[in-house]
Amino acid sequence: MLEIRDLHVRIEEREILKGVNLVLPKGEVHAIMGRNGSGKSTLSYVLAGKEDYEVTSGEILLDGENILEMEPDERAAAGIFLAFQYPIEIPGVATMTFLKAAMNAQRKARGEGELTTPEFMKAVKEAGSRLHIDSDMLKRALNVGFSGGEKKRAEILQMALLQPKMCILDETDSGLDIDALKVVSEGVNALRSPERSMLVITHYQRLLNHIVPDVVHVFSDGRIVESGGKELALELEAKGYADFDENAAA
Ligand code: ADP
Ligand code: MG
Ligand code: MG
Repeated sequence: MLEIRDLHVRIEEREILKGVNLVLPKGEVHAIMGRNGSGKSTLSYVLAGKEDYEVTSGEILLDGENILEMEPDERAAAGIFLAFQYPIEIPGVATMTFLKAAMNAQRKARGEGELTTPEFMKAVKEAGSRLHIDSDMLKRALNVGFSGGEKKRAEILQMALLQPKMCILDETDSGLDIDALKVVSEGVNALRSPERSMLVITHYQRLLNHIVPDVVHVFSDGRIVESGGKELALELEAKGYADFDENAAA
C-alpha cells in the first residue's frame, strides 16, 4: 500500500506540491486527473525519486517504509515503476539489451542471480506477444525513431517484465491513437492484480474508459481537491476543471 501524507515539494524555490494526501491500497487502481501544470508529473517524479525536487515536508510510505530516504534504484528494487510521459531515447542500446539489463539490475538489488538468455527470451516473448511487440522492434535502439505507440508499448513491456508492486503511469495516453491506446490499456489491465497498485495520471477521461479506475482524484494547484468513483472522471470531462479549482482555493 502507498500512503502520501501532507507532501510539500518545491522546484527552484517555488512550491509546486502543496499538501498532497493519498492512500492507495494494494490491488487498487487510482486515477489522478488535473489540468496541465497542476503538478501531476511532479508528484510522479517525486515518487520515483528524481533529483531537483525539494521535499520540504510530508511523508511517502510504501508498505509502511518511508521511501523518501531511498535512492531511485532502491525504490525501483522496492517495486516502484514510473512510466514516463516523455520516454527517453537510448541510441546504440537495443531495446532487448536494455530490458535485460533492467531485469538483472532489479534481481541484483534483491540479491538474486542474473537471468540466463533463454530465461530472458522466454519472458520477453510471452510479455511481448500480448503487447503486439515483434522481435524486430526489440532489436532497434530503445525509443529511437519509435512511434508514440511503440514507445508506450515498450514501456508497458518493461513494466510487465519487472512486475512492480506500484506502477505509476504518467499520461501514458498522450499521443496515442485509438488502436495504440487499446493495446496499451490491455497490457496495463493484464497487469492488474491483488498484489499490485497503480496510479494512472491523465489529463483526459478517454484513457479511463479502457483502464477503469477504482478511485478518481482531482488534482488542482498542487493537491488533491476531490476524490470519488469512476463517474467523477465523466463529471470532470463534462464540467471542466474550473469548478474544482474553487475547491482548491477554498
Ligand atoms: P502537470 O504534470 O500537471 O502538467 P507538472 O508537474 O509538470 O504539471 O508542473 C507543475 C508546475 O511545476 C508547472 O508550473 C511547471 O512549470 C513547474 N515545473 C515543473 N518542472 C519544473 C522544473 N524542472 N523547473 C521549474 N519548474 C518546473
Ligand atoms: Mg504537463
Ligand atoms: Mg505532466
